[in-house]
Amino acid sequence: MSSRNNTNRIKIHRSYTAMDVSETLGVHPKTVRNWIRAGLPVIDEARPLLIQGADLKLYLQQKRKTYLHRCELNEMFCFKCKRPKEPSIDSVEFIAKPGGMAQMTGRCYECGQWANKYVSWRDVNQIWTELGGKLPIAEKHLILRGQKPLNYPLAKVFNDEKK
Ligand SMILES: [Zn+2]
Repeated sequence: MSSRNNTNRIKIHRSYTAMDVSETLGVHPKTVRNWIRAGLPVIDEARPLLIQGADLKLYLQQKRKTYLHRCELNEMFCFKCKRPKEPSIDSVEFIAKPGGMAQMTGRCYECGQWANKYVSWRDVNQIWTELGGKLPIAEKHLILRGQKPLNYPLAKVFNDEKK
């Protein structure tokens, strides 16, 4: 990753192909495909793959934060405490995103500051149990926003857990 991807050039209401992203940010198209493989959400699985500007911006901002401050799976970076912190379990929500991803949000258990990060649906159960939660996750902690999780429907997540 170049040291300063200019996220200000990304328009949050636009959708981008990998080539558009490459041209907008001045990175190799291969780099964009690697980001998608590493968890950059895509709008759906139709070709060409489209990336929502807002998702791209958040992904790159988070990528930079993660790089600067390594968090465990169940931690998020708290900007008040200035370190990775677990969220309080009551505040945690997993918001479905396309491409098998979820946005995890919650309040720092220590200071109450809201934080969020992108995680894979595959990791949601593990994060939840590491925070001390019991499975299955109560529905109030899961927000589907009218979208079906594409790659990891909840039923499958729960089935995987039983194996
Ligand atoms: Zn905090």
